[in-house]
Amino acid sequence: MGTPTHSDTVLTYEQALSLVHEKLRQAKLDPAIESVLLQEAGGRVLGEDVRADRAYPPFHRAIRDGYAVRAADLAQPPAVLECIGEVRAGEHFPGAVGPAQCVSIMTGAPLPPGADAVVMVEHSRVEPASGGRPGRVNVLRSVACGENVVKQGSEAAPGAVVLRRGRRLTAAELGLLAMVGRGQVNVFRRPAVAVLPTGDEIVPVERRPEWFQIRNSNAVALSAQVAAAGGVPKLLPIAPDRADRLRKLIADAFPYDLLLLSGGVSMGKFDLVEEALGSMGAEFFFQGVAIRPGKPLVFGRLQGKFFFGLPGNPVSTYVTFELFARPAIAALGGAAPEEPVFLRARLAQPVRLKLGLRAFLPARARARNGDPVVELVGWQGSGDLVGLAQANCFLVIPPERSDLAAGDWVDVLPKPG
Ligand code: AMP
Ligand code: MG
Repeated sequence: MGTPTHSDTVLTYEQALSLVHEKLRQAKLDPAIESVLLQEAGGRVLGEDVRADRAYPPFHRAIRDGYAVRAADLAQPPAVLECIGEVRAGEHFPGAVGPAQCVSIMTGAPLPPGADAVVMVEHSRVEPASGGRPGRVNVLRSVACGENVVKQGSEAAPGAVVLRRGRRLTAAELGLLAMVGRGQVNVFRRPAVAVLPTGDEIVPVERRPEWFQIRNSNAVALSAQVAAAGGVPKLLPIAPDRADRLRKLIADAFPYDLLLLSGGVSMGKFDLVEEALGSMGAEFFFQGVAIRPGKPLVFGRLQGKFFFGLPGNPVSTYVTFELFARPAIAALGGAAPEEPVFLRARLAQPVRLKLGLRAFLPARARARNGDPVVELVGWQGSGDLVGLAQANCFLVIPPERSDLAAGDWVDVLPKPG
């Protein structure tokens, strides 16, 4: 197989992203499932549908401090009601509320039978009780039936699915799992992702570089990105720009679910990644995406395993990972596909660009007088990690726009934490 050419497989951002999703969907991945303790389940992907073990709320729950009443008794306020007792959270009232009666109730307590609403304490006045007679409460306003009460089962009916298989577990989902009594859950196995840096100039981080050498920062950043995306990073040694060594190290990545190469995918004489992959029988789905930074991005499959050849410049590596490798890792780990969410902000300064590439430029978004505003960080281009570290988002500029004015509304892609 000859060296594949770049020009015939450069896709738009949208085409490339949908091809990644499509290839992973077609691969009919079925990751293994393992059971983990809830306290270890953060960041994992749920491998089962989880149902409510009972109604939520489990009873009609008061959401204000006040009096449990029958709304019909208050049709013409004010009305004086007989207060027959008290109920707080963690208790239940043993009797029932009859006509012209009420029960003092605290937030979180179950509504006593007979009552159908809660009057806020602020809308009542206690009449002084006399000589051992039950207290009397003057209610100053009417209430609607169901007011200040969350109905039993209104959040979830017993047996209803509250979380679907494929959901990534963050704090809210973990709280929900705890609520329904799941101390242990089934999650998908995390995909193992090999990281293979390439380049004769790249030296390990621990080594003092010669003045013409560069530390292997991509492997460190990529490992963190892989872990944040739900994968387990596996670091391979730095591959020199020699096809035989590259082939050997690519072969070493086969036990893993995905291979991320960095560097060696541009058009230079020593950019040998595609040649090495091609000579091993790789299929290439695309070999370039019309984005900036990160145009020479490669996606393919070799012996049943997907790979990305990410460009070596650190900002390009970072951006192409976030745009394309992150969703691939999510899919390999059983997560349901999600569209990237672009936010909108007003541009702080005019921006001029060449047409034809969708730009993802390191930027900072902030609120100014209540409006979201986005400003480019000063950067020296796709090698500038100093600039990238200043950014909290990427300013996204579509390929057909070259001249943007201050105040224009633009798309912003939040930088993941
Ligand atoms: P390449 O895509 O191989 O042409 O690499 C482009 C540039 O990215 C190189 O000149 C390096 O400065 C930088 N680079 C490549 N690999 C790494 C790496 N692993 N860590 C940090 N910088 C890198
Ligand atoms: Mg290189």
